[in-house]
Amino acid sequence: MSTATAFRRTKIIFTLGPATESEEMLEQLIRAGADIVRLNMAHAKHDWTRTVIRRIRAVSARVERDVAIMMDIKGPEIRTGDVEVPIELRAGEIFDFTVRPGMSVGDGGGDEEVRSVGVNYQDLAKDINLGDTVLVDNGLLRLEVLEKNEARIRCRVLVPGELKSRRHINLPGVKVNLPSFTEKDRADALVGLEEGIDFLALSFVRAAEDIVRLRSFLTEQKSKVRIIAKIEDQSAIANLDEIVQACDGLMVARGDLGIECPLEDLPVIQRRAVRTCLAQGRPVIVATHMLESMIAQPVPTRAEITDVANAVYELADCVMLSGETTIGKYPLACVQTLDLIARRIEREVDADWREPAAFNGERMKVLGSAVVLANELPRSKLLTFTRHGFMAQGLALLRPTHAPILAFTPFPEVFRQLRLLRAVEPFLMPLAPDPNDTIENAIALLRRMGRIIPGDKIVVATDILAQDRLIDSVQLRTVY
Ligand code: PGA
Ligand code: MN
Repeated sequence: MSTATAFRRTKIIFTLGPATESEEMLEQLIRAGADIVRLNMAHAKHDWTRTVIRRIRAVSARVERDVAIMMDIKGPEIRTGDVEVPIELRAGEIFDFTVRPGMSVGDGGGDEEVRSVGVNYQDLAKDINLGDTVLVDNGLLRLEVLEKNEARIRCRVLVPGELKSRRHINLPGVKVNLPSFTEKDRADALVGLEEGIDFLALSFVRAAEDIVRLRSFLTEQKSKVRIIAKIEDQSAIANLDEIVQACDGLMVARGDLGIECPLEDLPVIQRRAVRTCLAQGRPVIVATHMLESMIAQPVPTRAEITDVANAVYELADCVMLSGETTIGKYPLACVQTLDLIARRIEREVDADWREPAAFNGERMKVLGSAVVLANELPRSKLLTFTRHGFMAQGLALLRPTHAPILAFTPFPEVFRQLRLLRAVEPFLMPLAPDPNDTIENAIALLRRMGRIIPGDKIVVATDILAQDRLIDSVQLRTVY
């Protein structure tokens, strides 16, 4: 019997919010198999952030299942200012976005009749052009730029609706000159590093240099936190290859992507992004609206079921929940639903996946032979030892058909970071001086846990000591 149903290979990320921040809910979600908790810094205060990170760690320790924590920093985000009461924008109405409040560069006459709202970015008028589209509040409101000056951008309302306080603005195709890592991001990240987060997700990554800048900040801080690049706009798509190369993991942030790009391109972009990550050896997360209707209802739509399945068929490492678990009524049912769909679809995806680019380098070829061996043996499990996570990442990248990747590391941070990788089941254990002892210890531990049983085939991919030299090796052991 294949063990494909006993173990879920696709990882589950959920976003923490009012609906899930209590100890009770956290415990239920961690027990239900959530792998990573995401903190969205667009809505988080620093006190809250510290409190919930400690709470997540405490609950993890109590249920003896350590989840990883991903802090999501907002990057260059443009927002409208406060309005006392929501403004009802009418179709065809002329409306101003003011970038320099108090400055009047009016063209006289009639200005008083034009309603307006402030924007948090002073140079917006420089970046934007006549004819550009301004989308507000997740694309719900659509305006077209008619004219501009230093103080304001004058638009015509194309798709009307209600404008509330501090709404997110999207400018499809516009190159915005905001810094990629803002002062707020820096302050947020420092809190995260102090509290020991495992991943930093950077929003609106536009080019590889955005990641390089964040990495040098992390190196300065002596942090080993891994960087997740969120691709959310057209620049990110244009620079996809270099972004994937520079990051430690990619998030297909479909919420903003679906606004910044033509909607019919979204599935094409998702598939291409996942493929690029598989080819270049980076983990990939499919995010946003996976079970959106479950914010209000206990069951998903049929389209959502198929969307989740599609991400699993595409061999993504993780699927992610946002509003479903921050403000939704059924957060536990959401995690259970992802779990159920992933396990079912994983039984279907046993096609031998091969991406030639992934086999670059001798070590990858050795890992590749371990995966081929594991794929050919019915009751196989891959076993590996990893100090930085790279051996496990290499095996995960090769997407073994049915063998789980049992990855042992001596470091708690690496252990938690392994939660991101498809089919990897992390274990924390000190490594013995002699690699052979380490293998024996790991097998003994797995047997005690009931994770392996007599007759199982263990394909070990590890370096062993041979005449004082470490060499990559593949071994086949039968459990007795
Ligand atoms: P957000 O990013 O939830 O931080 O906006 C995800 C997305 O845009 O899909
Ligand atoms: Mn976004």
